[in-house]
Amino acid sequence: TELSNMMSVNVNEIISTCMSLGMMVTMNQRLDGETLQIVAEEFGYEVEFVDQEVTEAVTMEEDNPEDLKPRSPIVTVMGHVDHGKTSLLDYIRRTNVIAGEAGGITQHIGAYHVTLESGQTITFLDTPGHEAFTAMRARGAQVTDVAIIVVAADDAVMPQTKEAISHAQAAGVPIVFAINKVDREASNPEKIKEQLAGMNLLVEDWGGKIQSQDVSAKKGTGVQEILEKVLLEAEMLDLKANPERNAQGTIVEAMLDKGRGYVTTILVQNGTLKIGDYVLAGQYSGKVRALLDERGHRIDEAGPSTPAAMLGLDGAPQAGDTFVVMDDEREAKQIAQKRQQLAREQSARSQKNLTLEEIGRRLAVGDFKELNIILKGDVDGSIEALSDSLQRLTTEEIQVNIIHKAVGQISESDVLLASASDAIIVGFQVRPSPTARKLAEKEDIDIRLYSIIYDAIDEIKSAMEGMLSAEI
Ligand code: GDP
Repeated sequence: TELSNMMSVNVNEIISTCMSLGMMVTMNQRLDGETLQIVAEEFGYEVEFVDQEVTEAVTMEEDNPEDLKPRSPIVTVMGHVDHGKTSLLDYIRRTNVIAGEAGGITQHIGAYHVTLESGQTITFLDTPGHEAFTAMRARGAQVTDVAIIVVAADDAVMPQTKEAISHAQAAGVPIVFAINKVDREASNPEKIKEQLAGMNLLVEDWGGKIQSQDVSAKKGTGVQEILEKVLLEAEMLDLKANPERNAQGTIVEAMLDKGRGYVTTILVQNGTLKIGDYVLAGQYSGKVRALLDERGHRIDEAGPSTPAAMLGLDGAPQAGDTFVVMDDEREAKQIAQKRQQLAREQSARSQKNLTLEEIGRRLAVGDFKELNIILKGDVDGSIEALSDSLQRLTTEEIQVNIIHKAVGQISESDVLLASASDAIIVGFQVRPSPTARKLAEKEDIDIRLYSIIYDAIDEIKSAMEGMLSAEI
């Protein structure tokens, strides 16, 4: 099936070709290298083998359950502009809330962790906003365990609040609401909770399951409490990792420092990173020369959920790239070089994400179960109408999910969400912004623009039936 996808050839044709070559195969069988080559050539293709670890993250063996230890949660703060994301992160960083450790966190390395009086720790990603969150996800990194979504109580649930909610939900990350600026006269937390309820998001005070906390990022009111709620949420996730193995994790930030060379902030997700380890990170590699914590102190190792700035890579990987420790320095270097080569080749002929035709084709071969759609339109009424009709296209074989819908132009953040969630974007009476259009071209995201509801439904329906021809 995979081969037929790659070559845009019907599975049955491949099977009959194999049979004509004297091989009995079934649809789901994996063909060995030699067979693949022969079959592909029959259809006029040439096969080039790429080691899986070059294209994907190097996979490590599973942990034994008894080696797993609890790890602290990793949190991203999201919400509408000016609602107080940065203030909240700063307050937590500055005051070190909690365990009363002397001195706040001085270094800005892109992530930091704090210890509560109970001894529990929480790690924060220090780049607020759902764009950063989803950009990492689009690169394959699922780092965040819990999302804090900030809503200013003297304002309202705003477009980016809704975006943040959709992005967290699309990632399957639980949300804790921070209803902020409660120190202000004009603030009305109940109004915010009511608006959330109107979106089917019932917070606890309203009889629901979603946690929320009134806070003032300026005065610090409620900050301790919201951190405890984050921990409660984390407890339910039962987060675990094995500290006794080679480290793997995600790149948070990377930069070139004049004196120190490449400084890469990493977040360890499993294992423990130690000085002297050989690291493969995205397209780069190197031996860990030094590790620094968010206070600028040298540390010898970084365990699960611990952020650290690492020195020693031979380049700057991208935020969201994964890293892994390898036993063999030469192997790490070779894979990194192959990745660089592959990236150069692919930038010439990029093909990554889904187009509607691609979805139609994959449906035809039957290995596609969900169609994710981001819906943007000019007025609420038509978005609701279109959203309802599209969801009703759901059949037994394929589920239509509207993962985000909103009034307004198609934005960069929509394109990022589409890329991270394998979605297409449907615009009704709206167009993409120039930057969104550029990003969509780069990421190969399908944007479909309609001005007639019926056309939209019709075209997506035929794609779902797997009948859309390739040249529409
Ligand atoms: P961001 O865009 O979401 O990161 O928002 P900022 O953290 O930059 O905050 C926007 C503005 O709101 C700034 O002027 C902050 O000083 C102010 N602000 C943030 N939190 C509070 C709060 O709890 N109370 C009050 N009175 N002002 C706040």
